[in-house]
Amino acid sequence: MAQTSTTPIRHLLEVGQFDRPGIEHLFAEADRMRDLPRSAAPLAGLILATLFYEPSTRTRLSFESAMLRLGGNIISTENAREFSSAIKGETVEDTIRIVNGYADAIVIRHYEQGAAHRAAEVSGVPILNAGDGPGEHPSQALLDLYTIGHELGRIDNLRVALIGDLRYGRTARSLARLLRLTEGTELVFVSPPAVPMGADIRAELAEAGVPFRDDPDLDAVLPNVDVVYQTRVQKERFASTEEYESAKGQYVTDAEAMRRLNPGAILMHPLPRVDEITTAVDADPRAAYFRQAHNGVFIRMALLNELLADGSTTGR
Ligand code: ASP
Repeated sequence: MAQTSTTPIRHLLEVGQFDRPGIEHLFAEADRMRDLPRSAAPLAGLILATLFYEPSTRTRLSFESAMLRLGGNIISTENAREFSSAIKGETVEDTIRIVNGYADAIVIRHYEQGAAHRAAEVSGVPILNAGDGPGEHPSQALLDLYTIGHELGRIDNLRVALIGDLRYGRTARSLARLLRLTEGTELVFVSPPAVPMGADIRAELAEAGVPFRDDPDLDAVLPNVDVVYQTRVQKERFASTEEYESAKGQYVTDAEAMRRLNPGAILMHPLPRVDEITTAVDADPRAAYFRQAHNGVFIRMALLNELLADGSTTGR
């Protein structure tokens, strides 16, 4: 995998590591993974550890499925906050040092922004950031852009609406950053006032020359975009239930909203959904979120294969 077109990546920490040739290569590899025979086992004998300090369904299981499909093995702690030595006061750094002795790569999800970077600093094996608090979720953004390419046949000249909790939603933050690598993209932020897109991402977009604007009127946005990316209001990040209640439920995509949506557009969501997309919408062919989740396996196979297959990081 290319971090830039010339420098190989050692860890997957944030989408800022990628350039355009790097994502094109990764997406071509993900396409190849779709048809990889189960008998091909490029990662046979290798072990992936999944270390999750926050809940997960798709990310953990799809990384594990990806490793198993590549012929590798997995070890896992799905509730590391409670059931690992973290509860006894062990630091992330110490845990990573220990797991370095047990695995050839480590997927980590943690509640603190920057935790994956801290892990990478002490790790001799690749670290893959599976979500660091309200920071980033790079493998999700990669599978999101890959899905856009598959659904619409292009990753350039897109009008993308990011809806919902853009302050704490790490998937929307990572996707906005990744879209800097596309041409002719316009972003619209549709968020409750309490959870706007962060100033850090806005500054990066401005510097990259990607046009963006805020528009609280979802009805007006829907007919004029190619991608609607809905997100959940991140309940676990709010200081109080009152604050969460004031932000939630403001933007709901229902059958009526789908009538407004451009016929050629797609509706995405990193999942899980709570109430922001009604189940009545699921049968609409533009509802891409389940296909999006399935694509995660192929992107994660491509990522693991690139990090581990040639043995360069593991000394095989
Ligand atoms: N599953 C995604 C994440 O871990 C989205 C979400 O939880 O809302 O960030």
